[in-house]
Amino acid sequence: ALKCGIVGLPNVGKSTLFNALTSAKALAANYPFATKEPNIGVITVPDPRLDKLAELVKPQKVQPTTVDIVDIAGLIKGASKGEGLGNQFLGNIRETDAIIHVVRCFEDDNVVHVDGSVDPVRDKMVIDTELIFKDIETVEKRVEKFRRTAKSGDKESKKMVDVGDALLSHLNSEKPARSFETDEEGQEIVNEMMLLTAKPILYVCNVDEESFATGNAYTQAFQASVAAEKAEVILISAQIEAEIAELESREERLEFLQAMGLSEPGVNKVIRSSYQLLNLLTYFTAGVKEVRAWTIKEGTKAPGAAGVIHTDFEKGFIRAEVIHYEDYVKFGSEAGARDNGKLGVEGKEYVVQDGDVMHFRFNV
Ligand code: GDP
Repeated sequence: ALKCGIVGLPNVGKSTLFNALTSAKALAANYPFATKEPNIGVITVPDPRLDKLAELVKPQKVQPTTVDIVDIAGLIKGASKGEGLGNQFLGNIRETDAIIHVVRCFEDDNVVHVDGSVDPVRDKMVIDTELIFKDIETVEKRVEKFRRTAKSGDKESKKMVDVGDALLSHLNSEKPARSFETDEEGQEIVNEMMLLTAKPILYVCNVDEESFATGNAYTQAFQASVAAEKAEVILISAQIEAEIAELESREERLEFLQAMGLSEPGVNKVIRSSYQLLNLLTYFTAGVKEVRAWTIKEGTKAPGAAGVIHTDFEKGFIRAEVIHYEDYVKFGSEAGARDNGKLGVEGKEYVVQDGDVMHFRFNV
């Protein structure tokens, strides 16, 4: 399954957010290193389209799609040099597909800040610097192996060294690998290095309950500092999200949200944005037994999408019957869509679109 890692300095609200996201009970406590083990949780991706399809089909079962989430604690200044519990956690980050970086934008004298004051821009720099240090180490090690053969004229080695050196100077100027520009071949070399700062990133500003709608001076400074990265920044109050997650019934939650002037929990936004960050899209299967959302990478063709359900579906793929979500809803059913000419019959080369309702035909 695809995995998102939550990173940030100690006491910024990672565990609290993780708990709200997964409704699991990680240890949230007011001191650094409260979360020592990486906590892995499974989050279901909310999708109103799935609810709508279920309403139309009335299946026995409704199954949303999921993303794994890991709470990665222990990143502090010096982590890349093995300070604190750092090095181990940098390894945990390497195993993720995308990063959610939480920064503290709330004041609370009862919650200790590791660096003595609230400053999300500085905090982000601390984390970035550690990740960049680690990447520099990785690239240097990799490039070193090819210097000799590059000198004796081996073309591939030379390319490796050239790309590596350009990347090193980029990293040394404190820029993340994700903003490094190179040609296609160079990009492949970079991808193979599995760098920490090459992963897609989503920023979450953890604010107090007065600020999640409007922001505050901290979030404004933070947004300005990351403007050039073109990354998404989400404002959330982890504390409130945790409170929402603790409410037992759906009615209680709705009431609470309404009182806060919210249309949905902020975690939904985080989940959806993470999903987009991973370049994922959703297609549906809609049968009376089960209406279900499936996750694929953008650009997946019909047989590959079928393979997510079962490898036999991919091997024996004949064709796919496709109704786009809007048409399905407009005509109320598969039969309705078919009668109105909205059921497409697609072959092996069909690239599945977000929101397709699929029916696969295959040989067994
Ligand atoms: P982590 O070390 O980043 O995982 O941080 P935690 O989630 O354990 O939070 C550290 C402390 O800050 C806990 O006492 C939380 O209750 C508190 N905290 C987290 N989010 C908020 C928030 O939005 N507002 C306030 N006032 N406190 C928070």
